[in-house]
Amino acid sequence: MIFKTTNQYWDCQCDGSYIHPSNIVICTVCKCERENGPDARVTEVQALGLALSTVTCAKCNLQSYNQHVGNICNHCHAGIMQ
Ligand SMILES: [Zn+2]
Ligand SMILES: [Zn+2]
Repeated sequence: MIFKTTNQYWDCQCDGSYIHPSNIVICTVCKCERENGPDARVTEVQALGLALSTVTCAKCNLQSYNQHVGNICNHCHAGIMQ
């Protein structure tokens, strides 16, 4: 099963509150780092009532919950990285 994720939040290894905003680079409890933690699931972020911005891709106008420099979607971002 594929879950929609957002890079505005990430999951650490804690049992309870494991969702952190992406501007938090390390969990002070389990010492998990943002760059090693997976993106959070959109459904879990929304269930907690956390703020989630919709990003409209500047290249293809696709709406997603993933933010990249220049407001581009994952697909266009991957194209640029190739
Ligand atoms: Zn943690
Ligand atoms: Zn795009």
